[in-house]
Amino acid sequence: MKLYRFAVPLLALMSAPVILTGCADLSAQEKTKAEKAEAKKATPQRDRFAAVQIKSEELAPGVAVLFGAGGNIGVSHGEDGTVLIDDQFAPLTGKIQTAIADLGAAPVKFLINTHWHFDHSGGNENFGKEGALIMAHDNVRIRMAGEQTSGRGNDPASPAEALPVITYADGIKLHLNGDMVHVKHMPSGHTDGDSIVYWEKANVLHMGDLYFNKVTLPFIDTNSGGNAVGMLEAANMALEMINDDTKVIPGHGPMATKADLMAYRDMLENVVGAVKSARDAGKSLTEIQAMKPAADYDTNPNAFIKGDAFVEAIWKSLENAQE
Ligand SMILES: [Zn+2]
Repeated sequence: MKLYRFAVPLLALMSAPVILTGCADLSAQEKTKAEKAEAKKATPQRDRFAAVQIKSEELAPGVAVLFGAGGNIGVSHGEDGTVLIDDQFAPLTGKIQTAIADLGAAPVKFLINTHWHFDHSGGNENFGKEGALIMAHDNVRIRMAGEQTSGRGNDPASPAEALPVITYADGIKLHLNGDMVHVKHMPSGHTDGDSIVYWEKANVLHMGDLYFNKVTLPFIDTNSGGNAVGMLEAANMALEMINDDTKVIPGHGPMATKADLMAYRDMLENVVGAVKSARDAGKSLTEIQAMKPAADYDTNPNAFIKGDAFVEAIWKSLENAQE
């Protein structure tokens, strides 16, 4: 059972387009959880994606973000070809390709996965079959090549066309479209294969799921090697790379600024610090959850990760760090 703890909320996060529009819309949702579960059972997956629209926003000349269902997509396009950062779900590939064409961009030549989760890599097989060169951290390929436990149960191994063909340990730099794109691995944060992507000239940063902006408390996938302490370190490292003008693409949620990311880092520091102090003082997980150390930030009743789950993930992270 333990492995399926996130099953229902994870599926909801990854398949519900409404979550990407922010807290206000989420709080306006009227359906009860039971109603939503019923609706999900009755609606085939393809129909759920049929209603999804891909919205694009230009962030700098030749750099854009696409919002749809699943993880936010970064796009770089220009004379050297189109680079995509993450690709949401397979049924959305056609719509994503249309949105890319509408930007005036060529078909995807390079694809980077910020991590292995299926709402960020679900389109890999489609793009891979059409010739995109897929890159990601070493652990993304390892996890996608085998069966994984995720929010929808066990994910089967991905087909060969979906796997990253260029993998890296620490990062990779792309010299494309007149910019220098830094792809940097952040060890053990949301998973054990996270990368952030920074366009130096365009001054745009894609954080992957190391950063959910406003929609929920952080999700630390401890089943995939994620760790709260690493997530905090990643936020600190990202902040060192950017300035007040940087446009920050979160893994989920609306666009953010450096100030938003700083507030998120402060939240992580406060809650991780509080859980660690209490744990070091001998308190049990249940006792710490009762102290509600994340209460100030646990403001969205429909959030995918609520305070108790966040505290438990931090507890597990600290436990794993000791092993
Ligand atoms: Zn994720």
